[in-house]
Amino acid sequence: MMPVDEHLRILLEACATVPRRTSPVPVAEAHGCVLAQDVRSAVDVPAFANSAMDGYAVRAAELAGAGDRPVVLPVAGDIPAGRTDRVTLEPGTTLRIMTGAALPDGADAVVPVELTDGGTQRVTLRQEPLAGAHVRPAGDDLSRDELALTAGTFVDARVLALLVSLGHPRVEVVLPPRVAVLSTGDELVEPGGAAGHGTVVDSNGPMLVAVLREHGFTAERVRAVADDEQGFRARLDEVLLTHDAVITTGGVSAGAYDTVKAVLARDGEVEFRGIAMQPGKPQGFGLVRAGDGRRVPVFTLPGNPVSAMVSYQVFVAPALRLLAARPAEGLAGVEAVADDGWRTSAGRTQLARVRLRREDDGLHATLAGGQGSHVLGALAHADALAVVPAEVDEVLPGARLTCLLLRPLPGKESLA
Ligand code: AMP
Ligand code: MG
Repeated sequence: MMPVDEHLRILLEACATVPRRTSPVPVAEAHGCVLAQDVRSAVDVPAFANSAMDGYAVRAAELAGAGDRPVVLPVAGDIPAGRTDRVTLEPGTTLRIMTGAALPDGADAVVPVELTDGGTQRVTLRQEPLAGAHVRPAGDDLSRDELALTAGTFVDARVLALLVSLGHPRVEVVLPPRVAVLSTGDELVEPGGAAGHGTVVDSNGPMLVAVLREHGFTAERVRAVADDEQGFRARLDEVLLTHDAVITTGGVSAGAYDTVKAVLARDGEVEFRGIAMQPGKPQGFGLVRAGDGRRVPVFTLPGNPVSAMVSYQVFVAPALRLLAARPAEGLAGVEAVADDGWRTSAGRTQLARVRLRREDDGLHATLAGGQGSHVLGALAHADALAVVPAEVDEVLPGARLTCLLLRPLPGKESLA
């Protein structure tokens, strides 16, 4: 059996040779992509000097001593945010100004409304501002032509806000891979149906599409196919043309009717291996030639839902991140003390489904439920996958384990 790290390394090396898919996109649609170019600002940000507060635009020098003896000025008008004509502040007057509104010519400070009587005809100002007070100068955040974002930056929500402010209609990005999820098995019932004698609902399809989307990939569930070699091959060839990666589940074990393995091993495009891992032992991976000549990563995962999810997290997610030009990271790990003891299969790395609890001395892990590869309840309720190294065959209570987080760490408050 091949160690987990070795299989992951093979997969990442292969995916590193696959060309990234780049394209110019409208800036607002760059969310979830990686920038393929450096981006300089086309404009000053902000584009004009503006007020940081709701208040009154003033000439600071006219308010000398206002802290002790308030100054009364006539209010010559209002400048709301969005007013685009040029306004001049006449000496001896003030203008009511709102946050984000352009500072009028002649003004050099803003007195916040809280330090006035809020008057609309005449206003009493009780502060002597320093020149520049509560004014955001043009280019304060970024000046025109300044390098704002570098190639390789992942566009999350915050980066997107910066990106759209730079004045470019489009930007060149690496698009996230389009991933097809193809469940296989004669026994599968479409989601929304109920399993009867001899059948099971295709839970892998919706599960994998959901986690792919949570991870920022474009995912599509292909209707499950039966254990039929021609039917499977035809459906695979179809989705290879329209996707950048394919995940199949089922049909990779050693049994009869293991169609995925039968077809792809024969065609020699996918390597099937036993990985020293529990769950998730039978794995296949290869770059499969699509009809248009592209080599498309195909991950063939075992059919049991727990195995499929663990395989996805350990192998597929890091590889897809690489295709998306992101760091090939897997789940983040934390250390926890095992409260339970359990035996594991010797020679295989176990990824046990555990719940985590925060105590004064740190995190504690307990088994989330049955550890069978078909037990959806334990998978759904687990907070993490506890890694039991291959050389360990029994976890003793009190052992320290690395736990890979499946959901954000439970906070102290939520444990009260
Ligand atoms: P296989 O890997 O095809 O040998 O399947 C292993 C187990 O996983 C069997 O009990 C299958 O019925 C089950 N299984 C396979 N595919 C799915 C699926 N898409 N959803 C839920 N269970 C599945
Ligand atoms: Mg099967």
